[in-house]
Amino acid sequence: MPIACEPAGSAAALAQIADEVRGCTRCPLAARRTRTVPGEGNLLSDVLLVGEGPGAREDATGRPFVGPAGHLLDELLASIGWRREDVFITNVVKCRPPANRDPEPAEIGACGGYLDRQESALDPAVVVTLGRHSLQRYLPGSRIGAVHGALRRSFSGLHVFPMYHPAAALHQASLRETLFHDMRGLPAALLAARQALEEERAAVQAEEAVTPVQPRPATVDDAQQMTLFQEH
Ligand code: URA
Ligand code: SF4
Repeated sequence: MPIACEPAGSAAALAQIADEVRGCTRCPLAARRTRTVPGEGNLLSDVLLVGEGPGAREDATGRPFVGPAGHLLDELLASIGWRREDVFITNVVKCRPPANRDPEPAEIGACGGYLDRQESALDPAVVVTLGRHSLQRYLPGSRIGAVHGALRRSFSGLHVFPMYHPAAALHQASLRETLFHDMRGLPAALLAARQALEEERAAVQAEEAVTPVQPRPATVDDAQQMTLFQEH
């Protein structure tokens, strides 16, 4: 199944975002980072993976998910015949939180604009959330234990496929099987999301086709004629 079928992702827009992230000092995480980690992958992909934040290896290399959690993510993708080059991978914060602590709400908020713009540029059919912080961005208030492995819709209309964070399975072995099980459902979720989007597009087009020609907007002349008419 082709994973990348968007007619056009915006390479220039994504490069511009990465450039801005490189010079960003919008939150305190800027002070202690080695490298920023804006994200990488297939610019035409229909699948956007969103993790939490860079760890030590990501901070050293400037690339997302290249440490132990990243190796498990590679394995998970390989289990359904995908590679990281087929998807786009980023995080809710682009700079490493010290000692891998959770990113704070203010930091996630400060960084959110970059992710908004990455979403617009990529226009993915599905966003895969990896872990709690990413899940809260798209489905606020939902619990990972209740929503993982099934396609949902965010308030903004994005199709979201929540998954546990791969790092969680490194600490809790029982989650490994859950992660692989959920991953097996991702190709079908992608198809379902594409189909739903296609149907919505078709419905909009059908509506446009039957919408009667709008009357010409009123002009100043019309208004004057109307005034004359009323005076008679
Ligand atoms: N964990 C994340 O959430 N993101 C990374 O890029 C690496 C580890
Ligand atoms: Fe800027 Fe985001 Fe890095 Fe904070 S985490 S400095 S907002 S790029």
